Amino acid sequence: MTLPFEFFIPAEEAHGSEALENALRRRLKTEEGYLLIEKKALDARGKNIRWLVRGRLLPQTPPMETPALLQGRDVRKAPEVFVVGSGPAGLFAALELIRQGLRPIVLERGKEVRRRRRDLALLTRQHILNPDSNYCFGEGGAGTFSDGKLYTRSDKRGDIKACLQALVHLGAPADILWEARPHIGTNRLPALIERIREYILNWGGTLLFDTRLTGLEVQFGRLKALVTESGRFPARQAILATGHSASDVYRMLHALGIPLQCKPYALGFRVEHTQEVVDTWQYKCQTRPAYLPPAYYNLNFRAMGRGVYSFCMCPGGIIAPCATQPGEIVTNGWSPSRRNNPWANAGFVTEVDGSDFSELGLNPEHPLSGLDFREHIERKACQMAGGRQSAPGQRAAHWLQYRSGHSLPPSSYVPGVVSCDLHELLPRPVAQRLMQGLRQAEQRMPGFAGEEALLVAPETRTSAPVRIVRQPDTLQSPGAEGLFPCGEGAGFAGGILSAALDGIRCAAAAANYATLR
Ligand SMILES: Cc1cc2nc3c(=O)[nH]c(=O)nc-3n(C[C@H](O)[C@H](O)[C@H](O)COP(=O)(O)OP(=O)(O)OC[C@H]3O[C@@H](n4cnc5c(N)ncnc54)[C@H](O)[C@@H]3O)c2cc1C
Repeated sequence: MTLPFEFFIPAEEAHGSEALENALRRRLKTEEGYLLIEKKALDARGKNIRWLVRGRLLPQTPPMETPALLQGRDVRKAPEVFVVGSGPAGLFAALELIRQGLRPIVLERGKEVRRRRRDLALLTRQHILNPDSNYCFGEGGAGTFSDGKLYTRSDKRGDIKACLQALVHLGAPADILWEARPHIGTNRLPALIERIREYILNWGGTLLFDTRLTGLEVQFGRLKALVTESGRFPARQAILATGHSASDVYRMLHALGIPLQCKPYALGFRVEHTQEVVDTWQYKCQTRPAYLPPAYYNLNFRAMGRGVYSFCMCPGGIIAPCATQPGEIVTNGWSPSRRNNPWANAGFVTEVDGSDFSELGLNPEHPLSGLDFREHIERKACQMAGGRQSAPGQRAAHWLQYRSGHSLPPSSYVPGVVSCDLHELLPRPVAQRLMQGLRQAEQRMPGFAGEEALLVAPETRTSAPVRIVRQPDTLQSPGAEGLFPCGEGAGFAGGILSAALDGIRCAAAAANYATLR
């Protein structure tokens, strides 16, 4: 017999998995059976901070089962399906293809995780940017050295649990199955990506690194071949999962007449505080007790009719240089699994659309105007901060008061932050919305936009600026039968989990197409 349970447990009583188990058993009054935790969420609203824990008491330990997504078969002799890009969308597409009995051939412009890590060190320490191997490009895509937060609002897009179970089976911590805000951490992700690679290779799939897609051959409206720097691959079907940083791919598709649409997205800067200050806002205490996790925030405001919000908050995190071309600056954030850095950062962004793009003289009807807008800001940021990977920054209070030229507080951004006037960077309407948002944040959390809060610009890669159109039923491009635009770059996902879910959907559609033809 299974016994469902739900308890609020004071935070100090449930510090660590053993203490949590003891606290649950005390309440259930049993030492018998297996505790299956299904949800664990922190409730910090009241005076007493507590965990909500929900689950079931099972008579015995359930048997270990291979997750459905990893029930692969030998595909060495099976028909092939190309997957371009080895980010979460591409890798999960490859897993699903193997499950469906097809042979994935993954083409990836960047390097394997280990070789890629060396390029990240060169980027952060010596400002040397490799346009094929950086925070966004290479094995595992933008997900490999990401923060590894695994929550998504897109629960209608697929089976989130199946993705999480596959990750746990491949070595991710089991708590991602029940934590309300699951997080893996940058230090643990690379090994996980390597295990996904091993899985694909073991079943007979292929991964080709240093293989950048440069063109497509389309004949009579059907995909015929993929053209790469290393050669031509005849291909009847391909999942295109190249992510939203691959500007060259968008431009190549546009030149070929593949239907694209301009898409709104969000843009702004990273805001950085000490983790200590964030803990004070959330927990209302001077020093965070060891039994509480580093605090988190999630802000949402309206300003001049548009959304302004925090994005990808990284408690105990680092601001990372995420450009993909020399001459541009892009920021994003990550944190290790223990979230034990002294800083906390988050994107602070506002929605931008055609009306903003036209401020720069761009034609809002043009499918690439959002991309041009993004590139303009990323390049200008680089020029303002000296042309290398140092980023322009300003104290939040000074930005709100139009005061520039002051020294900056210390920052986690290793390439360095250069004091600049960020009003020179952002078009006026965008800046005004962000200013209104910051003022609202300051009211809620005093100091959020204070002298010690640092703005590091720009945060531009929140989601794709372009949609690669696909037919809703077949998931294929109307411009090239057999081409499946997929993941964040195609404009159908935002974040690791939703990209993975879209990869699975596209793989199922591609498998259907491959077996029908
Ligand atoms: C620092 C950082 C932190 C992040 N933190 C989080 C987080 O905590 N939680 C979260 O949900 N999301 C996070 N993200 C975002 C997340 O990583 C992306 O949403 C996700 O990786 C998108 O998956 P994707 O597979 O669609 O594209 P990508 O991950 O962008 O993968 C695209 C792949 O295609 C390859 N590629 C591109 N062009 C070509 C070409 N021409 N030929 C061959 N290959 C090509 C690239 O090298 C890359 O491997 C973070 C991103 C960064 C950079």
